[in-house]
Order: sequence, then C-alpha cells, then structure tokens
Amino acid sequence: MLFSVTGPLSLKWNYVPKMIPWFIKFIKNCSRKKMMHTAKYMHQILDLALPAYDDLFKEIDISGLVENKGIIYFWTNKDLKSRELEINIRKELGVEQQLLTAHEIHDLEPHIRKIYHSGIYYPSARHARNPKKILLKLFDLFLQKGGHFEKQNVNTINFSSDEKPIIKTNLNSYIFDKSVIACGAFSKKLTDEVNEKIPLDTERGYHVHFKGHDHLLTRPVIFLNRGFGITPMEPGLRVVGTVEFGGLNNPISKKRIVNLVNNAKYLFPELTEHYDEWLGFRPTLPDCLPVMGPSKNYKNLYYSFGHHHLGWTLGAISGKIMARMIAGENTNLDLSVYSSLRFS
Ligand SMILES: Cc1cc2nc3c(=O)[nH]c(=O)nc-3n(C[C@H](O)[C@H](O)[C@H](O)COP(=O)(O)OP(=O)(O)OC[C@H]3O[C@@H](n4cnc5c(N)ncnc54)[C@H](O)[C@@H]3O)c2cc1C
Repeated sequence: MLFSVTGPLSLKWNYVPKMIPWFIKFIKNCSRKKMMHTAKYMHQILDLALPAYDDLFKEIDISGLVENKGIIYFWTNKDLKSRELEINIRKELGVEQQLLTAHEIHDLEPHIRKIYHSGIYYPSARHARNPKKILLKLFDLFLQKGGHFEKQNVNTINFSSDEKPIIKTNLNSYIFDKSVIACGAFSKKLTDEVNEKIPLDTERGYHVHFKGHDHLLTRPVIFLNRGFGITPMEPGLRVVGTVEFGGLNNPISKKRIVNLVNNAKYLFPELTEHYDEWLGFRPTLPDCLPVMGPSKNYKNLYYSFGHHHLGWTLGAISGKIMARMIAGENTNLDLSVYSSLRFS
C-alpha cells in the first residue's frame, strides 16, 4: 500500500522513528488469533452502537439528520482473498450482509463509474447527514439535564490524600470524586502524566467536500482497493480516507488531499472543485481495541479513548459503558478486554 500512488497508507518520515515501538506491537497483533479477538470485541460494542444512539435520539429531534440506507463496499477482482476473509469473519460474527454483483451495485448507485466487479451491502448501517448538528442537539440536552461544560485545557492531574483526582487547567484547579480522560489521540499526554505507558498513537485521516453533487449518491460507498469512501451529506459529497502515520504535530499533507480528490474523480468524473480540506486524528492502539476502564494506578481515574476509525459510531455506547462502570452497575458485557492493563 505504501508504494501505491492511489493507495490509502502513508508515512511522515520524520515521525517513523517515534512510531517504531507502536509498529512492533501492531505486527505482534497480526496473527489470526489476535485479529479474531479484536473482531469479536469490536463486534461486542458495535452491535450495541445503534441501539445506544436510539436511546439518545428519543430525546432530540433528528429529522433529516440520520439516514437508514445502509452502506456499500465494492471492489475490483484484485486482492479477492482479503475480501473473502473479511466476509467470512463478519459471517462468523453474525453481521447482516448481502453480496452484490456489479449489476446490483449499478442498480443501487447508478452514477458510480463501473470500475467495480462486486461488492457487499450492509443494510442496517446508517449515516449522519450532519454530525455537528446532531452533537449540538445532544449538547443542549446535556445542559438542559443539568450538565455543566467548561472549555479549558487540562495540563496536569494529581491526586489528593484520599485519591481524588485534582485537575489543573490553564485557568483553574478542580477536585473531583471521579474523572475520565477522554481526549482522543491527545489522551496520551495525560496518561503519561499519571505514569501509565499506553501505546496510544494516531492514524491521521483527511476529508474534502464537493458541493452540489450529493444527488450522485444515495448512501455511503467505500472503494476497498483504494481505501476511501464517499458519503452524501448536507455540506455535499464528503470524500474521506487515508491512514497517515505522522503524529499530532506534523502539518497537513497536500499530497493526501490531491490523492482523495483524484480518487473521487476516478469514480465520478463529473466532479469539479472541492472545498473544506480537513485533517483529523484517529486515536489508535496497536490491537485496534479502545481503552475503556479504570486507570492502572488510580481507582478514581478512568479512561475512554482509542476508538480509532469508529469513535463517532461508538460514542453513545462508550458513554453508556463508562457511566455504568463508574456507577458500579453490571453491563453483562466482557469489559476486561478494553482495560489498559493489557499493555502492562
Ligand atoms: C477522516 C476521518 C474520518 C472519520 N470517519 C469516521 C466515521 O465515519 N465514523 C466514525 O465512527 N468515526 C470516524 N472517524 C473517527 C472519529 O473521528 C474518532 O474516532 C473520534 O473523533 C474519537 O473521538 P474522541 O472523543 O475520543 O476524540 P476527539 O474527537 O479527538 O476529541 C478529543 C477532545 O479532547 C480535547 N482535548 C484534547 N486534549 C485536551 C486537554 N489536555 N484538555 C482538555 N481537552 C482536551 C480535544 O480538544 C477534543 O475536543 C473518522 C476520523 C477521521 C480522521
């Protein structure tokens, strides 16, 4: 993938030496047994992701913001072996999926250039037409229910004599009964601060929008050979992709934007100017499972981060799990697999 001009994977070479320990741990997780462990325990939470959102959506008006039209992954005849592997793992886990012929893909999404040979349809997948609008509605609900929000930068975490977290920010100092570190890829700075070495890093990803073209697609599609996706959304067609290993401080890579734009035009030659070039940081552990649970050293400090490519999907269920964990309630889930202790 690294040597393919159209491929999704890239490196910022100045960051490679810093990432070597992460790569070694990642490679150790590439056995079939470990991969199945990850698949099983991602499935455990993914299976509950939509019902957890449904509970929240009962309390806000999401009309026009969420579509229930499934998602299509498609591919050419190249690398069919890895396609078979993915399909079989999902079958084993009981994921609802339908194989599609090229003809069927064309019937569902007639505007995509017919470069594909076959694909798969996940009918129960949903997509958000504007995630920010949904989050703002949830945020208002949180405030209405008595939640309190402060936007401050957490600099240090210390502990009182009875082990309560003392959070020092750029503006203030607070003492809490319990605290959760949920700072995505930025969490590592704080976990290092409390002396726990968690191999959290980031998979940088990009998106661009094409305005006025969302009539070209009905649902999200992913072209697996080139590892990118396109979703019809309120701001236009959103083209998303790239896994770039380069840490949190490197600048945006213009080449990755060009790659996304070219890939989008490969599927839809009629696309013209793009806008809104965005770089985001997926928080990633080398076994591709999130960290959720109490910290190793402090019983009143909890973690919830490392949801890699699926942090938006898993937001509601992660919140529920963390709330139950902190309240000492049973979840009927095996949560030990998400503990940070797996890295000690
Ligand atoms: C291109 C791209 C496409 C994606 N597409 C999808 C998708 O389709 N579906 C999906 O489910 N996921 C997707 N993701 C992944 C998703 O965006 C992440 O998994 C998710 O954002 C992680 O959420 P988080 O809340 O843990 O971290 P973040 O969203 O990174 O939020 C962390 C927050 O912590 C704050 N913070 C950091 N440090 C501090 C500090 N010291 N003090 C105070 N606050 C701090 C930050 O300001 C930020 O607000 C995508 C990611 C990318 C890059």
